[in-house]
Order: sequence, then C-alpha cells, then structure tokens
Amino acid sequence: MADVKFVNQTERIPVKTLYCIGRNYAAHASELNNPIPSAPIVFIKPATTIISDGGDVVIPAASNDVHHEVEIVVLIGKAGKNIAVETAREYIAGYAVGIDVTARDIQSRAKEKSHPWAVAKGYDTFAPLSEFVAPDAIGNPDGIQLSLNVNGETRQDGNSTNMLFPIPQLIAYLSGIFTLQPGDLIFTGTPEGVAKMSAGDEVTASLENGLTTLTVGVKGSDS
Ligand code: ZN
Repeated sequence: MADVKFVNQTERIPVKTLYCIGRNYAAHASELNNPIPSAPIVFIKPATTIISDGGDVVIPAASNDVHHEVEIVVLIGKAGKNIAVETAREYIAGYAVGIDVTARDIQSRAKEKSHPWAVAKGYDTFAPLSEFVAPDAIGNPDGIQLSLNVNGETRQDGNSTNMLFPIPQLIAYLSGIFTLQPGDLIFTGTPEGVAKMSAGDEVTASLENGLTTLTVGVKGSDS
C-alpha cells in the first residue's frame, strides 16, 4: 500500500484516504469557466495514484490532455469527527506539495454528462507527492507558498491566502461528513496556471520556496 514519510526521517506512514478539494482558488475556477462554489467540492482519489519524488507520471492511452494541478497537501495525524474550525490545526501532522494529475479531456466529458471525476483523477501515478514537513516548519500557516515548473518554466505560483476555503475550514467541513483518520491526506485545491504535461517533461513542485520539493518525469503508457 501507499505510504509517505517526513523529510530526513525513515518512518513510513501508511496512507488511508486521499480527499481532494476542487475549485478552491477563484482564479483557477475562472480559468476553467467554472462557477465559484458555495461549499467545498470534494472528491476522492485511490491511494494507488501516489508516486514519490523521482517517479514518473504515466499518461494513459485514453487521454490526450493530462494536466498538472499543484496543491498543498495536509497529512491528518489523529482521528476526528465534527472538528471545529478553531481546533482544526491540532489534527494536522504535516504539509507536503502534491500534484493532482487530471485527465482534463476525460473530466470534461464526465462534467458534460454529470458523471463523477473518479476516472479522470484516478489513474495510477496521478498523485505525485513530496516528503512532508512538520507544521512548525511552516512560517505562516495562513499564507503557504506553492509553485510548479515544467522543464524549468514556472507554470503555477500560488499562495494559500487565496483559498476560498482555508485549510481549517476544509478539515472542519470534511470531518462533518467523514471520520478523519491518521494517514488521511487532503489535497487542498490548485491555484491558476493548470496546463498540459507531455511525455519527456520534467515537472518540479515546491512548497514554501523549497522547504520540501518534488520532481517527477512524464512518460507515455507504452514507453
Ligand atoms: Zn485538484
């Protein structure tokens, strides 16, 4: 099963559920011509999507338009249900940077039919994830920087101050529906700048200007 680790530590932490938030930055909702949501949009990716630093995203044969979505990823450290916004940060064990890889063409067809996004978001290798850092390594938890480069060119550069639903609100909202468990991950949504990745690309993501980083390759399904 998938597991994660902290920077400079060897202990592996088994991953449970990958909760993901859609349209959590207004500028990203706009770039895909989506309305601003009135409540968090929640979907789930299988844990088999996770790859770590140095891995390769595999573009499935069924898609011609696989996008990067760089996101702040929260690791839940203790179980909780109906968590209050005010105490939500106590449940955070760490932060990482991840990529919510999305087959945009498959997602667009699903949206037209009001079908779920599980296929567009759920292929193997569709969740590259960096190593985690402890919450006290983050200078300002309300203003976390994240960025993504493709072949050295900056594609996405955002900050959690621009989230429509800040991380404590996401934890409170999710825990009102699901019992959060140690090892759960929350992909907290992507800022603007999502775009296509192609076989041969090198993709680098960073949290807090290099506090933890992620580099992955991209290859076709037959290579
Ligand atoms: Zn996303």
